[in-house]
Amino acid sequence: MDEARRVALVSGGGRGIGAAIAARLAVSGHAVITADRDIAGLTAPDGVRLVACDVGDEAAVAALLDRVRAEHGRLDALVCNAGFMIRKPIGQLSLAEWRSVIDTHLTSIFLLVRAAEPLLRAAKGAVVTMASTRARMSEPDTESYAAAKGGIVALTHALAMSLGPDVRVNCISPGWIDTQGHALSARDHAQHPVGRVGTVDDIAALAAFLLGAESGFITGAEFVADGGMTRKMIYAE
Ligand code: NDP
Repeated sequence: MDEARRVALVSGGGRGIGAAIAARLAVSGHAVITADRDIAGLTAPDGVRLVACDVGDEAAVAALLDRVRAEHGRLDALVCNAGFMIRKPIGQLSLAEWRSVIDTHLTSIFLLVRAAEPLLRAAKGAVVTMASTRARMSEPDTESYAAAKGGIVALTHALAMSLGPDVRVNCISPGWIDTQGHALSARDHAQHPVGRVGTVDDIAALAAFLLGAESGFITGAEFVADGGMTRKMIYAE
């Protein structure tokens, strides 16, 4: 056990935004654990260890934090990032589907922070939660996702009040982030006031800032990283 090395835990860090955050934290010297529900076929960069864990499951999260405590003895940074979307008309959305989305996005943050609180307080650590611009705006048939993301924004400021001054808690609300290297059109990019779709590195850089000492005066805040899309007034094509 290397007790001098900073330790980070990233949920849903096996791919996409979470993987970029995990890689960035590893490069900056953290020992990083990423918790994904299915790690078969996933690979991790140097300094990142993949652990199988459904973060919506109470017992699985308790076991995960027991492992972090036993193997590392500390936790400096927690990134609550795991999530997925079900896009279905509300009349076809089952209660089990609704609950699976709420459990993965929102309940997981309650479970992770509750289990990690002693380690985070001891380390004077920081938490970043992953919401979305969909906390405040929607497409049709996305009720469970929007509700979960709105809840995350509120849970973030509640946690910041409860865990301060030991632990800072902030939230990132990404807009359109290309996680899969899809072919994007010129129009996809041009509609954004910054002139491009977002990248996973845009979000990883912001997360690293919010977890580091330079953001020491910031807690309970939401950071919208969407290339300006939610500030854009649209009356016609
Ligand atoms: P990805 O699907 O690329 O990665 C999310 C990871 O979380 C996947 O590996 C997924 O596993 C895992 N995961 C899902 N459910 C669970 C669970 N219950 N327990 C553990 N791991 C789980 O998503 P993104 O990188 O695009 O998104 C990351 C976060 O950012 C999410 O919270 C998302 O809502 C948010 N976000 C993303 C935006 C975007 O444009 N990409 C925009 C706004 C917000 P599996 O593959 O098995 O589902």
